[in-house]
Amino acid sequence: MTQNNYDPSALLSARTTAIEEAGIIRMSQKARDLAAEGRTIVSLTLGEPDFDTPAAIRKAAIEAMEAGYTHYGPVPGYPELREAIAEKLRVENGLAYGAGEVVVTNGAKQALTDAIYALVDEGDEVIVLAPYWASYAGIIKMAGGRVVEVASTIDDDFKAPPERIADAITPRTKAILMNSPCNPSGAVYSRAELEALAEVVRAHPHLCIIADEIYEYIVFEGEHVSIGTLEGMAERTITINGLSKSFAMTGWRLGYLAAPAPIAKAASKVQGTFTSAANSFVQRAAIAALKGDRTACEEMRETYRKRRDAVMARLAACPGIETMTPPGTFYVFPDVSALLGREIDGRVLADTDAFCDWLLEAHGLATVPGSAFGDARCVRLSFAASDAQLDDGLSRFEAALKALS
Ligand code: PMP
Repeated sequence: MTQNNYDPSALLSARTTAIEEAGIIRMSQKARDLAAEGRTIVSLTLGEPDFDTPAAIRKAAIEAMEAGYTHYGPVPGYPELREAIAEKLRVENGLAYGAGEVVVTNGAKQALTDAIYALVDEGDEVIVLAPYWASYAGIIKMAGGRVVEVASTIDDDFKAPPERIADAITPRTKAILMNSPCNPSGAVYSRAELEALAEVVRAHPHLCIIADEIYEYIVFEGEHVSIGTLEGMAERTITINGLSKSFAMTGWRLGYLAAPAPIAKAASKVQGTFTSAANSFVQRAAIAALKGDRTACEEMRETYRKRRDAVMARLAACPGIETMTPPGTFYVFPDVSALLGREIDGRVLADTDAFCDWLLEAHGLATVPGSAFGDARCVRLSFAASDAQLDDGLSRFEAALKALS
């Protein structure tokens, strides 16, 4: 109860209220609510590795904590970690950033936030290539920017053609935000496709690329190419990455950005204003992770590959959908648009939200509607789940689609 008609919700800023609750959070909550009622629910909503962080990294964190890395550190990160990141970017990605151009962040999400706040003034535009990770839109809007979506569908292999991107550029465009390998579609841009995009960027000196490369290790076909390595692009690219997906470290909150010095400095200023440095002992563990071998990362990728192949074999038996075999990430993004508008169980599956609500309520399978990713046609299933969960989940999906067709 409030007193004197005091209403705390009336205090909320327009910016906060404009941010929609992420579709993924809504679906996960609904799945938990149904499970609490005693229903058996299979959830394929999660965007995080189901593996434990490798033992050597856990050990490095414990040792760092014991050694006293429990105080504030420098805002942009410990120099040794910034060096290790610059070295990783040079050796693995061919990117020539100096350690002074690296900012260590509290997850890749904060790296994106730092970068966008460093660039965007009220009314500035950021082009996002749809379908895109839901948080992009929220971060841009919170910074006062405008989200300009450039759409692609399964017919484009979920990669927006460069002409379509070029058409969306205005004098207010500050950046093009791209994600390869892509959450939610699994699309991976080839070198030639990145060349075409780089050509568009080079023709417009008032904007840059923000390249979110967080899924770089989870590529099954082709190779991951960093757009910042292409001609003239080093000074035009902010590279975003982190350890969450590659080293199964989602809860540790460790990411980074690398950008031309003035942008890196401004991003560090943003971070100094909001949150200060990333956790000190986690930074020391990140040095161990980046300097260590990649055996665990490769094993995880091979497990995801097997699951992807198993999932695609099961989806082939599902009527009414069209699915691209994802060349990267741990998501599949079937196009269910041919089924939208159908009536079943006394309801109309008018859009992807209604479709996913029905899948969950009638078949006990939680997925994420495309609407959460700026897409009106698809649903996202994560295969960062055990074989047993995947098997059960896909049986439910198949039963649901057979009932519908
Ligand atoms: N970018 C993309 C495309 C993601 O999917 C995620 C996590 N779901 C992030 C960034 C954020 O990762 P982090 O845990 O490092 O903040």
